[in-house]
Amino acid sequence: MAVKNGKEYTERINRQHIKIWYQGKTIDRPLSSHPAFNGLMKTQAEMYDMQHQKETIEQMTFQSVTDGERYGLSFLAPRSREDLVRRRIMMELWAEKHHGFLGRSPDYMNTTLMSLYTAAHLLREYNPEYEDNLTKYYDYCRSQDITLSHVFIQPFASRLSELVDDVQDSITAKVIDRKENGIVVNGAFMMATQAATCDEILVFSTPLPSMLEPDNPYAFAFAVPNDLEGMTFICRESYSGTSHYDHPLSSRFEEMDAMVIFDHVLIPRNRIFYLGDEEIGERLFSEGNFHSHAGHQVLTRYIAKTEFLLGLISALSDEQNIALEAVTRERISRILTMLENLKSLRLASEMMAEPDSQGYYVPAPKPLIAATMQYSSFYQEMLGMLQDISSSNLVMLPSETDLASDAGDFLRLYLKGQDTSARDRIALFRLARELAIGPFGGRQKQFERFFFGNTRTLTSRMYKVYSLDKYTAMIDEFLQRGKPDRLANEKSLID
Ligand SMILES: Cc1cc2nc3c(=O)[nH]c(=O)nc-3n(C[C@H](O)[C@H](O)[C@H](O)COP(=O)(O)OP(=O)(O)OC[C@H]3O[C@@H](n4cnc5c(N)ncnc54)[C@H](O)[C@@H]3O)c2cc1C
Repeated sequence: MAVKNGKEYTERINRQHIKIWYQGKTIDRPLSSHPAFNGLMKTQAEMYDMQHQKETIEQMTFQSVTDGERYGLSFLAPRSREDLVRRRIMMELWAEKHHGFLGRSPDYMNTTLMSLYTAAHLLREYNPEYEDNLTKYYDYCRSQDITLSHVFIQPFASRLSELVDDVQDSITAKVIDRKENGIVVNGAFMMATQAATCDEILVFSTPLPSMLEPDNPYAFAFAVPNDLEGMTFICRESYSGTSHYDHPLSSRFEEMDAMVIFDHVLIPRNRIFYLGDEEIGERLFSEGNFHSHAGHQVLTRYIAKTEFLLGLISALSDEQNIALEAVTRERISRILTMLENLKSLRLASEMMAEPDSQGYYVPAPKPLIAATMQYSSFYQEMLGMLQDISSSNLVMLPSETDLASDAGDFLRLYLKGQDTSARDRIALFRLARELAIGPFGGRQKQFERFFFGNTRTLTSRMYKVYSLDKYTAMIDEFLQRGKPDRLANEKSLID
């Protein structure tokens, strides 16, 4: 079967020989037995199993009309609104499993690849080989159910050095040699979430505008297996706990981020999707409607996460005996309002979906961009609610070991709730703590703020899908005044 199960996912990751650094040492044991990765890998494995279980197989997979094979639905390039709804149901099932805490559940990258594939035809005008490479790569990932990560962002210092550097020595990732059988790439990418626990990595450089195309060495896209010779992964410190009681979230959902270094790596020719001209990369993303297809997945994740926080804030309010207070009603109704808003935006994106030039259905971008614009600040607002309700209870929290110790009787006596045992009360606040003030929660907060770009990028994305002319003309007409030249202003906002 083309869809893999959890065991196959784990075995493939363990089989890879990747060069990976963690806390000053290379890891030379199966990642599924390493405390920094095993919780996440177990969760991912359970998610892949859902593609095989009889209760969910119909919603998680589809049967190809072309070859009769079953594939993961997250790879399905939608041909109708019904397909978008099927995709959403699949994404909901996975999101309910990880409660929105996995930014890189498999459907995110599978959707990314699918969106690029829908625009593969445009590569023909640059080089038919690229079109062939991307199409075949999509088929390969779909038929092998490949788990992917991705990198875009290059080292900070490269933002300047790229303009002036020497082709061999600079730190900006670039093509340093072109050979018959591929290109040699050298340099680093800053951050790939889940990089080490994936089969392959999709690399899209984000070069500064340049006068060098069509031979710009900084402009390229390709995908390669993680254990290609010359690749190195350097992990940040892990935020994962090992006990589900002490660290209920990080012990399951900690997605390790890694820096990815290419040290004179030969990228095989059949894995190159474009080269030398940054305009091609931009077109692939915009004409593949990446932000719409991925935005549909992201919004589904937002909804699952909001529902989880709603449940948690409600349970904490009960625990603190303030469930009937006006302040609680205000908080809960604020979350319910946003939840309805997010669900409506998703529905709107599906209802207003339209086919692209190739007949693939694209969720409407405006509602999806609006959701992304709202969510990072709303997410922080919910974290503020957690902190407010929980107060010192987020801090004075013994562990499972403390409860099992000789001091356990004191803890059970003095830390019990009104109707709950100390053990259950502590479990609830430990969950709130991980999210509201712990390192796992801090990363989640930063993720929600930046994973789709910085504020400036998000804002200009919104500007690009709207024209303000209609609205300003309304005011001009209302006041019966002359029409000023606003074009210059608008342009500077869009760039
Ligand atoms: C938890 C997490 C996981 C991530 N995972 C991945 C991943 O898997 N793959 C991947 O490729 N990337 C990943 N990223 C990176 C993400 O794509 C970037 O963080 C994002 O694109 C912003 O880029 P940056 O971090 O370089 O910040 P910058 O773009 O450098 O922004 C830094 C600050 O400067 C401001 N700024 C920048 N330019 C301007 C300007 N011209 N005018 C005014 N202000 C400006 C920004 O608004 C921001 O406040 C991840 C990020 C996080 C936090």
